[in-house]
Amino acid sequence: MSKFITSSRRNPCPICDDISGDCRSLDNGLILCHSFIDRHQDPSHPDWVYRKPDKSGIWGIFSERRELQTQYSRDYWLEHSRKRRAERERAKAERAKTILSVEDRDRGIRALSAEMGLTTGDRQLLNARGLTDEQIAAGLFFSYEAGRQVNDRIPGNLPGIRGKLAGKNSGIACPAFDLDGLAIGYQIRLTGEVTGGNIAGDMVRYQAIYPTENCP
Ligand SMILES: [Zn+2]
Repeated sequence: MSKFITSSRRNPCPICDDISGDCRSLDNGLILCHSFIDRHQDPSHPDWVYRKPDKSGIWGIFSERRELQTQYSRDYWLEHSRKRRAERERAKAERAKTILSVEDRDRGIRALSAEMGLTTGDRQLLNARGLTDEQIAAGLFFSYEAGRQVNDRIPGNLPGIRGKLAGKNSGIACPAFDLDGLAIGYQIRLTGEVTGGNIAGDMVRYQAIYPTENCP
């Protein structure tokens, strides 16, 4: 198999402009494009000829067009790629609607923290790290038991929730707040056994559910 570069912001797919890593550019000059796989999807690109689907059926194979293209085919391509881009923007806006607002996420994390509570052991760990019970309450810390069911007051699109606590490891959830004091996410400090020995009580590893900087 030839070497390849996956599509990225620095190397967008020349056929569909993908930057998410779905397409590949091979070192033999061919392009594997994930947006146009089958012959009936041939986008009639002015610079790239559709060849065939690759063996895996994941990509369409394209090679550089040798013959000179007419202005017509170039205009046609640009028109269509503009339409596709508009379609992508529309789909993105549609997805954004299902993402929680900052206020809803804050409410969700507060409800989650109240529902899960803190085990005596986890509270002792936090106390041992110098946190008072008031600070623990204000910080919304809660015991994160991987796989534990959550009730339906908790928004299903809260990060890390899919009807249950969806992370793989248990520990203490440490919420992060924005400048307005709204909870925007949380990380899990693992409290159990990890490779290399038991470090219970010595919270050194954590698993990002949502990027934060304030794990104690
Ligand atoms: Zn592509």
